[in-house]
Amino acid sequence: MNNLQVVIDAGHGGTDPGAVSSSGVREKDLTLQIAQYMYQKFQEAGIPVTLIRPSDETLSPTERVQRILNAYGNNPNVVVISNHINAAGSGIQGAEGAEVIYALRNNDTLAKNVLQALENSGQVVRKYFQRRLPSDTSKDYYFIHRNTGRTEPIIVEYGFIDNPTDLAKIQNNYKNYVDAVVNAVITTKRGGTVTPSVPGSTSGNTYTVKSGDSLWSIANKYNTTVNELKSLNNLTSNNLSVGQVLKVPGSSGSTGGTVIPTDNTYTVKSGDSLWSIANKFNTTVNELMKLNNLSNSNLSVGQVLKIKEGSSSGSGSSNNTGANTYTVKSGDSLWSIANKFNTTVNNLKSLNNLTSDNLSIGQVLKISGSSTNAPAETTENVYTVKAGDSLWSIANKYGTDINTIKSLNNLSSNTLMIGQTLKVPSSEASGNTYTVKSGDSLWSIANKYGTNVNTLKNLNGLSSNTLTIGQTLKLP
Ligand SMILES: [Zn+2]
Repeated sequence: MNNLQVVIDAGHGGTDPGAVSSSGVREKDLTLQIAQYMYQKFQEAGIPVTLIRPSDETLSPTERVQRILNAYGNNPNVVVISNHINAAGSGIQGAEGAEVIYALRNNDTLAKNVLQALENSGQVVRKYFQRRLPSDTSKDYYFIHRNTGRTEPIIVEYGFIDNPTDLAKIQNNYKNYVDAVVNAVITTKRGGTVTPSVPGSTSGNTYTVKSGDSLWSIANKYNTTVNELKSLNNLTSNNLSVGQVLKVPGSSGSTGGTVIPTDNTYTVKSGDSLWSIANKFNTTVNELMKLNNLSNSNLSVGQVLKIKEGSSSGSGSSNNTGANTYTVKSGDSLWSIANKFNTTVNNLKSLNNLTSDNLSIGQVLKISGSSTNAPAETTENVYTVKAGDSLWSIANKYGTDINTIKSLNNLSSNTLMIGQTLKVPSSEASGNTYTVKSGDSLWSIANKYGTNVNTLKNLNGLSSNTLTIGQTLKLP
């Protein structure tokens, strides 16, 4: 890995909000969210990483540069990622997409790969480029390039805050975008390149129907329901044709569009590393090693690994609303699962052809052949602390903050123990409310919670069927 060390900058902060959308979203808050998640991802990859603005703090350019250079010294192995959201300003309309800006002293490889990765993750991309100071064209325009010694800095602009489409995409998909950037940095520093993804079966939030597919099999693959797929795609029948492109529920969590095989295993291919596999399946190297009893990180091509599905990550992950399947978590038993889904141990065993009561974490169980009323798993709000967790990483995972978790659990300190059980806010249905996500309609939400559009409208005093992303709805 050439001793890669990473410094993450969250653009702006404190008294400097950066760009602000017409709806009041501030760049400094988005960049902080992005930077914190990015920090977590590099940590999981085992790469030395420093986040130079971990909170909403005012930093002068001088202070910012100082922190960058203090992190790992002034050396070319240090990649500095300065995260920003663009703004086109008044008079310019419709600017859209990501940009990467690199320093005059560096070649374009890293910037090019990062931009390509962003494109592969579904974001519109514009260009990667250098920018010179007009008064002295031998120098970089931006201080983050100009004053950061021999480090390799890139500015990543994820999109335009003053373009509502871009803003919604960033808010919903930032984890995918960050995953892409992290992957590209690591790949580049290993001497690899990021190539355009082949337009194929899963790109962005669409799925191309293949021979043998049914709505049911696709719904199952994306942890959704046939009804939801039909409503997303305005389908009136269950017929599909090969090559048909379907919208699938946003993988705005961190699965990056990757689908966990239903048998929950993955066969190692050439070029894979534990890290790339962990990343692909929204888990961590440590979890994979534990799950597969690996004592080192060596893999061989063809080796079959058990994959653990990521514990419900941020909002938008559809992992846990499994209508017809349930992924076994630590502490589960057939009895507790049967109880949760109003069925019996015997039913579960026969449905899943189980001969014993043993379960393994990550195992996917069918719940009921035709079930619709399985309660959303997100109503169970317990998280078991794992190695490497912090209150911060857990809060981040559940879209909450440290104080909320501490007060939920009456914690007086920030110290956690491995195996400790914490109450956490449910990620999707918290209490009896639901937060509207991209692609939702009143109908799909009513369907998901076993109610109907009119009930939802009455409950929420809605006079029209229009929803806005981020809107909170009361549920019956
Ligand atoms: Zn900015």
